[in-house]
Amino acid sequence: MSVEPFDAVDVIRAKRDGGVVPEPALRWMVDAYTRGYVSDAQMASFAMAVFQRGMERDEIRVLTDAMIASGERMNFASLGKKTVDKHSTGGVGDKITLPLAPLVAVFGVAVPQLSGRGLGHTGGTLDKLESIPGWRAALSNEEMFAQMQSDVGAVICAAGSGLAPADKKLYALRDVTGTVEAIPLIASSIMSKKIAEGTDALVLDVKFGSGAFMQDIDRARELARTMVALGTDSGVATTALLTDMNVPLGLAIGNANEVRESVEVLAGGGPADVRELTIALAREMLALAGQPDADVEKALDDGRAMDSWKAMIRAQDGDPDAPLPTARETHIVTAPNDGVVTRMEALPFGIAAWRLGAGRARAEDPVIFEAGIDLHAKPGDRVVAGQPLFTLSAADEARFPRALEALEGSWAIGDAATGSATGFERGPIVRERITA
Ligand code: URA
Repeated sequence: MSVEPFDAVDVIRAKRDGGVVPEPALRWMVDAYTRGYVSDAQMASFAMAVFQRGMERDEIRVLTDAMIASGERMNFASLGKKTVDKHSTGGVGDKITLPLAPLVAVFGVAVPQLSGRGLGHTGGTLDKLESIPGWRAALSNEEMFAQMQSDVGAVICAAGSGLAPADKKLYALRDVTGTVEAIPLIASSIMSKKIAEGTDALVLDVKFGSGAFMQDIDRARELARTMVALGTDSGVATTALLTDMNVPLGLAIGNANEVRESVEVLAGGGPADVRELTIALAREMLALAGQPDADVEKALDDGRAMDSWKAMIRAQDGDPDAPLPTARETHIVTAPNDGVVTRMEALPFGIAAWRLGAGRARAEDPVIFEAGIDLHAKPGDRVVAGQPLFTLSAADEARFPRALEALEGSWAIGDAATGSATGFERGPIVRERITA
């Protein structure tokens, strides 16, 4: 039996007391946890110590690197194309990956978009796409490579279990031990997967506000800076945008309805905020791929992005022209008085959509593709009494009461006569750009 070179309790104590964990000990801790030698209890204690004490930049780099080393590393060097990926820290109504990946692929760039499923109130890209009849999320590495090399160029598929298995184990543990919201742990978790994926470049959409991990922009900025530094130090050209997630993105929250809205954007229309963010992220991705002047708006307006989307869906056995599921039961909430919508908080809308069946409470639960919320007005819009504000959709009307409960107090209509005295001002979605 081989002798372990460190003791987990010494590593935990070092971090608990605010020290810096030496590189060999930190690498060992991650490796021994992945092997099952360090227990869940010890790793949870260590994660809590990191949560309380933080980590220095070099420790975060070592932690990230150790998680990458726990699994396979993909390599797209022989593709003959630049690869650029996007990662969002997650929000309500965030369907941007759907129009973005095919839009960027129009310009001959490959997009290796390894995505996840939703847990809790934030939706998952794969859940949304699975509402398209026939569409397949699971691809082998060879299929993914072939699709990126072909004219299709963009791939959105499930991340295989071989990528950063240490993170998979640690993330599940953090989820149940109150240690998710620590910047060193979030940054190393996200970046270990993105660096192991082998992309040349990466654009991060770091969200702040009521529907985001980070409620305030200062913490979101710190997270973005940490991740940009990790990517850059590993040779992945990385930039980040700080974007507003106080209000749901677009008008659709759910799965099938978010696909519908994405298709509207690909047809040159769609809600202004979804189009604005899609264009901003596409520009960043193409700039990193050496095409800073690419006319992305034209590609949305002249049908090329739509053709690219259809090719991407068909390549994964989906039928882009098939009707999407629609809900059996709907419940419309109307404006109680005339005025201006002053508030629609992202988090309660995300929770309500989840309770309607659009999300899952346990990883093994199915999602209901047609469940969700369609907004008919957004903050800043004038409404008259009796006008529909939003529609809840579900497979079973028994879902409505708990969803409505989540929405209580989450939206408001101010007096139209007082104009700006309603306190509402619609700011730009993209607030800051963070570069290395
Ligand atoms: N997403 C991840 O992959 N990891 C985190 O820690 C948080 C969000």
